[in-house]
Amino acid sequence: MQSEQSSTTTPFCKVCFKDIRRYDFASLFEDYPICPTCFNSMEPKTVVTMLDGIKTTSLFVYNEKVKQMLYQCKGCFDIEMAEIFLSRHKAFLRRKYRNWTLVPAPSYGSKDQVRGFNHVVEIFKGLERPFIHAIMKTDNVKQADLNFAERQQIGKHLSWSGGVSVAGLNILFVDDLMTTGATAKACAKMLLEHGASRVEILVMARTIDPKKRKENEISFSQKLRQIVDGIKKKIRGKPN
Ligand SMILES: [Zn+2]
Repeated sequence: MQSEQSSTTTPFCKVCFKDIRRYDFASLFEDYPICPTCFNSMEPKTVVTMLDGIKTTSLFVYNEKVKQMLYQCKGCFDIEMAEIFLSRHKAFLRRKYRNWTLVPAPSYGSKDQVRGFNHVVEIFKGLERPFIHAIMKTDNVKQADLNFAERQQIGKHLSWSGGVSVAGLNILFVDDLMTTGATAKACAKMLLEHGASRVEILVMARTIDPKKRKENEISFSQKLRQIVDGIKKKIRGKPN
């Protein structure tokens, strides 16, 4: 339920700063920090693939808009930007992963200290699941600086956090961006070796071959309708 306060203030899009409710039916049910126009410019597209036998889901195509927003979040330390990415997915994701524990992609500790926050945690904390920082980067290696062969050896730059256990847990490995998937693959392997009972990967955005972009497109309006129908069903099914 919306609070008294939010019903008297005008909600605005944190990306374009326009009034959201004028354009968005869905925001009558929940306060979203991003308007449908900005959201659609991020190319929401749920893609599910298997990466070395691990179910891997991505929610956006890594396009210029997403790149620019991620830069604002990571490069310009804009922590408010982080909650925007999954704001329209989180209700669904909370239900889907309600029994899962999140392991964020490894980061190099000093980078988080400079930023004052871990951007992956900030992006995914809307799922309201516990985080375990199980894997660390041992040096400040950047994927972008590595060639293909080096990326396949990414495991050399990763280490298990001392005293951390994932034994018997369903682990959802989460990251902001996936390109080759080398890091996610290496981490999933480590998690299984450390006794996780199940591992899946969820990334906010993924680089997708432009030719493949049009294929199998799940339109956003279709998905939104599914979510609204789900909410309606829930409301109807609730005993008084
Ligand atoms: Zn907007």
